[in-house]
Amino acid sequence: MPKLIDYRSDTLTLPSDAMKQAMIEASIGDDVYGEDPTIIELQERLAKQFGKEAGLFFPSGTQSNLVAMLSHCQRGEEVITAQEYHVFTYEARGASVLGGVALHPLPSSAYGTISPADVKAAIKVDDPHYAVSKLLSMENTVSGCVQPDQVIQEATQIAHDAGLKTHLDGARVFNASIASNTSPAELCKHFDTVSICLSKGLGTPAGSVLVGDKKTIHYALRQRKMLGGGMRQSGMLAAAGLYALDNNVERLAVDHNNAKTLAEALAKIPQLNVDLQRVHSNMVFIHPDAAEQKELAAHMKSHGIIIGQERLVLHLDIDESRVSKTIEAFQSFYADRN
Ligand SMILES: *Cc1c(COP(=O)(O)O)cnc(C)c1O
Repeated sequence: MPKLIDYRSDTLTLPSDAMKQAMIEASIGDDVYGEDPTIIELQERLAKQFGKEAGLFFPSGTQSNLVAMLSHCQRGEEVITAQEYHVFTYEARGASVLGGVALHPLPSSAYGTISPADVKAAIKVDDPHYAVSKLLSMENTVSGCVQPDQVIQEATQIAHDAGLKTHLDGARVFNASIASNTSPAELCKHFDTVSICLSKGLGTPAGSVLVGDKKTIHYALRQRKMLGGGMRQSGMLAAAGLYALDNNVERLAVDHNNAKTLAEALAKIPQLNVDLQRVHSNMVFIHPDAAEQKELAAHMKSHGIIIGQERLVLHLDIDESRVSKTIEAFQSFYADRN
């Protein structure tokens, strides 16, 4: 494990020796020629696991989401999503910049949930004044929160009834699956396409896979090429992905338990304002006083712990003993401040 205990993100994990070994031993070929057997295996495996026809490997989740939006929408068409979702706020508005695709952001609750009534109201009638609504893009988990089945079902039904397609930004969809004890295929059955990250809780160095029907994925291949996402012997990355699917999915439950332990201990420190209802998977949010934030971060750092401003993310490189150490460090900071 790395020396520092780093809570900023689950992307900060380093590949284990066993994962690196799997990468070294991978059978590889030129994937732009469609000849990398390990890439093909990973794409097919995830497509099957998510109940879709085909899959396509990407260097990042941002590119996978972007290609999904470009594959479902032409210029002048729009994606209905939420203000706080990654595709709207953290992807540099790529769909608009590169594809001429408009994004219509909806509000979402403290738990990342949109309202089906808002989706309905956002879908535009055929009128030359308006953009053409083409895609509903949801997210799961949202800041660690598992989205309610009922909302997913209602929102996607409204979209489909109006002729829209549906996409799920499932960067942490395996966290949602493990936390809700629901298979990926069941969880994603209402979505036409799903983007899955391998580099978050699953611990690979890079890679995302977009799954969907054959026609969409075939078109997505052209978009990926155009964006420069076609890679050559990328089977080494796919081997890390396959290793992660075999070894790092079930264990997400450990991260979720650790998040719960951490959250319950930190909830006893009133200055941190922890909302336990918000802890569904691997994230804990703290809200320390702004004036104390810097001092808190420095105190934690002196204990070998790096914290985000408000977000603490549990992952592969933080085990139970590290969580205990973290709780003690928080407690010692607040001990003489009551
Ligand atoms: C990280 C993330 C992405 C994008 O993944 P990158 O590989 O960092 O481009 C997309 N959506 C969500 C919700 C994410 O957390």
